[in-house]
Amino acid sequence: MRISDAQLKQVDRQVRRLLDSNNFYGRRLREAGIDGVSSVEDFYKLPFSEKQDLREAYPLGLAAVPQEQIVRIHSSSGTTGTPVIIPYTQKDVDDWAIQFARCYEYAGVTKEDRIQITPGYGLWTAGIGFQAGAERLGAMAIPMGPGNTDKQLQFMIDMEATVLTATASYALLLAEEIEKRGLKDQIKLKKLITGSERSGEKIRKRIMDALGVEYYDIYGLTEVYGPGIGISCAHSHAMHVWSDYVYLEIIDPDTGEVLPDGEWGEIVLTTLVKEGAPLVRFRTHDLSRIVPGDCACGHNEHPRIDTITGRSDDMMKIHGVNVFPAQIEEILASFPELSSEYQIRLSHLDRRDTMRIYVETNGSVDWEDLRMRVARRVKHRIGFTPLVKIVELGVLPRSEKKTRRVFDERYD
Ligand code: ZN
Repeated sequence: MRISDAQLKQVDRQVRRLLDSNNFYGRRLREAGIDGVSSVEDFYKLPFSEKQDLREAYPLGLAAVPQEQIVRIHSSSGTTGTPVIIPYTQKDVDDWAIQFARCYEYAGVTKEDRIQITPGYGLWTAGIGFQAGAERLGAMAIPMGPGNTDKQLQFMIDMEATVLTATASYALLLAEEIEKRGLKDQIKLKKLITGSERSGEKIRKRIMDALGVEYYDIYGLTEVYGPGIGISCAHSHAMHVWSDYVYLEIIDPDTGEVLPDGEWGEIVLTTLVKEGAPLVRFRTHDLSRIVPGDCACGHNEHPRIDTITGRSDDMMKIHGVNVFPAQIEEILASFPELSSEYQIRLSHLDRRDTMRIYVETNGSVDWEDLRMRVARRVKHRIGFTPLVKIVELGVLPRSEKKTRRVFDERYD
């Protein structure tokens, strides 16, 4: 979706503030010869930024306001070394709650609702975001935090929670416990709001059936407020992203080229009104696409992104098409005669890139027929024909940890 005039003005204001503050971004923009943004062409001259850049600004190099205006910090995961610190002003904290309250509204949550919050509190942006939005809306927040399933279930029943917020994995765990303990008649849940984790259609359906809830996906990341910058609506899985707070682009992760609506690539976000730590063209590494066309809910001022299918680090490029494992996985999952295991091998044969997909099945089906049907479906959905190899059930390697399923042998 092309940047609007109003958004351009907002970006211009952000860029000028960054230049004045001379923070990490300000210096970066000055080095790139940027002095403002008055046209779409100017916008595209703005350099991308990466998580690594934010890390280098540790501890408070991202702050674009004087220290006394910072009321809170959050931090994104430091699993790969130095954490990223995001400073917030009072306006940022308020804006985040406003966006989160809007998420709840899109999911049909009202102040009559009681929201059980299981994501964690602390440096993370999760729990506190869900809570601030609930309070802003006027609903009743039940700030459980993660873990302690017995207590979660007790409060869910006694407090008559109507909305559960959780990761998909924890929602599944709670759903299975409720089934196991025969508590379904005692719970009053109507909606589940989940985020931060990709969940396939099978898991979704399992949770919805077990809990008897509507399922909403929320989007966001610590660097850009936190969860709550977008949510799916009652009409589709795609998530509306708030165009009055962030400008959304999808780029080719290899070339940085901005892709048209409908094409899959990496989500890039620019904050429009953030004060504490504005971000300019921040590469999220989340893979999705802008869903073209109108949504039946009518909120077309807020563009929609599709379900996040993975991280750009996992992406494969073949015959000029960007493909990621989740797409192949989804296609394979539509064949009940295949196991959940697969392996993708990319190689360079006869000066051509080739994708081989190994799948498992048992002896009761016609292998040649199955092989052709899988290849045809991949061709139909992704646009090129892979070599499909069928192997006996149990042949592909299993691992208790994360199983490696993609092997790129093109440049070995
Ligand atoms: Zn909608």
